[in-house]
This record gives sequence, structure tokens and C-alpha cells, in this order.
Amino acid sequence: MSASADGRPGIAGETSESLGSWMAARGESPYRARQVAEAVWRRHARAAEDLHPLPAALRDAVAEAFVLDTLATTDVRLADGGRTEKALHALADGVLIESVLMHYPARPGQRERHTVCISSQAGCAVGCPFCATGELGFGRDLTTAEIVDQVRWAARRLAADGRRLTNVVFMGMGEPLLNLDRVLEAVSALADPDRFGLGARHITVSTSGVVPGIRRLTALGPQFTLAVSLHAARDPLRDVLVPLNRRWPVAEVLAAARDHAAATGRRISYEYTMIGGVNDTPADADALAAALRGDLAHVNLIPMNPVAHTPWRASSMAVIEAFAGRLRAVGIAVTIRRNRGQEIGAACGQLAAERIGEPPAPAIARRRDRLEAASAAALRGERSETGPDADLTPVGEPGAA
Ligand code: SAH
Ligand code: SF4
Repeated sequence: MSASADGRPGIAGETSESLGSWMAARGESPYRARQVAEAVWRRHARAAEDLHPLPAALRDAVAEAFVLDTLATTDVRLADGGRTEKALHALADGVLIESVLMHYPARPGQRERHTVCISSQAGCAVGCPFCATGELGFGRDLTTAEIVDQVRWAARRLAADGRRLTNVVFMGMGEPLLNLDRVLEAVSALADPDRFGLGARHITVSTSGVVPGIRRLTALGPQFTLAVSLHAARDPLRDVLVPLNRRWPVAEVLAAARDHAAATGRRISYEYTMIGGVNDTPADADALAAALRGDLAHVNLIPMNPVAHTPWRASSMAVIEAFAGRLRAVGIAVTIRRNRGQEIGAACGQLAAERIGEPPAPAIARRRDRLEAASAAALRGERSETGPDADLTPVGEPGAA
């Protein structure tokens, strides 16, 4: 189901069968459904007039029954000399979401790539304190079509220059595994050769560690590459950085990720946001090395993008290199991600946060104080009961997965 604010479903959430039934119910022949699919998936149609070669009356009927593009408006900002395009989309009900289109030039042995980073929810209930989306709190789940239409936006943009999208990553706003039914429908649409037609291997979904969701994916078999946002291998620190850790601690997340890797034969990618003086010490590197030793795993170190409401900054490159060195010393594959589009706030959630406006200064100050205290306590190994910002960040009901 992909209903929009006015109750009409987004067309990108429809399957070949559901479109076929819709046509059949109107007494139209099945090839009309294939023509609509062709317009939606090959030409990225977003208005009735794009639905060629349907007769005008049928084009209008389709556009009345379905929302052809659930992204009502899109503002784009460029960075990195045009290699990063950051989009702020408004949905039909005025909710704002973000996606980022990144262009990677060809390198020896690798073709050029165009990756879109998309949102699965408006806002996020998990409330990681270093994340601008976490700061916004939870808005709502996105529908299947709202997820897929971000990819169609990117594909349309690329097609204008004769280029094709090569990768999709669910690393924008929201926790995909807390909207897993819609995410799975969106992935099916993206991977289906009769719809978007991108290979499942070119799709990555990132989770902050929703264990029941990971287990459900394991039971389903390989659907896409799974990335797990770890950020700390010690529970007291991860409790602060990823509040879900109180429900599913490090050992449970790693066990679920390991089972997923074993069942699918695909290595797990662990994301680790490097925060200066918080999770980047040699002890943290050694804890991570011990936790992952012998696993089919890959670690991606990401220098933290500064977020207004936190006291934290990225670790220095020297510290990141040293951290990577300690992991490599025990045979763990590590890459260091250079941040893209930092000057326009490419950590998802930052454009929306800017648009909404900052919380009042005293609330920010209180939050900074709490984060300082909570991270200092965590570094001493103390696990606090309530978390750093229980009264500022609404933590939703992660059991919903
Ligand atoms: N909710 C999912 C996916 C969206 S967040 C998850 O947490 O995995 C995607 C990635 O962006 C996560 O790895 C997250 O830790 C990272 N991220 C969020 N805020 C960041 C920041 N300020 N700097 C660097 N990475 C950040
Ligand atoms: Fe949510 Fe991911 Fe941001 Fe954490 S990092 S608040 S899980 S979007």
C-alpha cells in the first residue's frame, strides 16, 4: 500500500500485477499496463502527458487514480564542484525528506558510478545524538512509492545527461528496518527487471542494529547488501551513541549480523562514525578488533559531519589512520570514507533541520552538557540508566519491526 495524503496510491508502489488488475477492471487490455510500466520505469514519468503512447483519456484516468510522483517539490543544492547533489523533497502532506546523488568518476579498473542515498522514514525514532535526523525525532514512515520516487528522481536527473544510476543506498533519513515492509517492497521494485531493474547487489541497506529486522532478512535470504552502523563495540559507549543499544546490545547485533553473513554468504559492512575523543581511542579500536576478529566483515570509518546540537567533531585523519591500522593488524578490511558534500550538510537530515530551524539555545546547551557527561561516563565504562537526552529525543517503539 502506498497511499498519499489524498488517499491515492503512488504509482511507483504498484506491482505489474496490481496495474494489470486495474486495467482489467476498466476493460483495458494487459498491454496498456505494460505501456504504463514502460513510462514509469524506463522514462521516469511524473505527469499524465508522460504516459505515451496511451490514449489521452486513459492517461488522465491513470493520473487521477495514482500519484505519478509522490515528491511534490524538490530543491537541489550542489557541492564538490557538482559531484554531489543534495535534494530536499517535500511530500504531499508537506513532510520534508532528503536524498543525495553522488557522482564518482571512472578509475582504473572501475567504471563511473552514480549512487543515490535515499530516506526510508521522515525523521528517525532512534535518536543517535551525532545525527541531524535523530535530532529531528520521528515524523512518519515513508510509503513504498515515496521511497522509490527518490530513486526515480535521481534516475531522471541522470538520464537528462545520458547517464544511468548504478547504486542505491538506504543511508538517508530514517531507520529502514523499522519500516521494513515498505523497504522490502521498494527493493523489490528496484530489483525487478520488469520495473526499475537494478541488480540487488547494487542496493545497500544500513541499519542501526534492529535485531529482529536483521533476523527477518536472514530468513528471507539475500535481498541486498546489509550495512550495520556500529560506532562503538563497548555497550556503555554504544548506549550513548545508538540508543537502540539498550534494547539490542552489541553482542546481539553482532550475532545477528554474523548469522546473516553466514546464511547469505555476503560480508557485512560495519559503519563506524569517527567522533574525536569519544569513540576513536586505541581501546575502542582494540574492542572493535576483538569483536570482529575472524568475521566475514568490512569496516567503513566515516569522519563525523559536524551537527549543530552536539559538542562533537570528527576525529583527526591521523587518529582515523591509527584506528584503521589497529584493525588491519588483525586482518580486518577497513576503508576510510571521505565525506562528501560536507559544506552543504550531506549527513542526511541536515537540510531539513536547517529548514525547520534550530531548537532554542537553552535546550541545545542542556543537550550538549548531557552528551558531554554521558560520553565521559561511558568512557569510564559506566552504563547510565536513562541515556543522555531522554527528555529531548522521542524514542519510538522499535519493537514494531
Ligand atoms: N538509520 C540507519 C540508516 C541511515 S543513517 C543507520 O543508522 O544505519 C546512515 C549512516 O549515516 C549511518 O551509518 C549513520 O551513523 C551515519 N551518520 C549519521 N549522522 C552522521 C554524521 N553527523 N556524521 C557522519 N555520519 C553520520
Ligand atoms: Fe536514525 Fe540512523 Fe540517524 Fe541513528 S544514525 S538517528 S538510526 S538515521
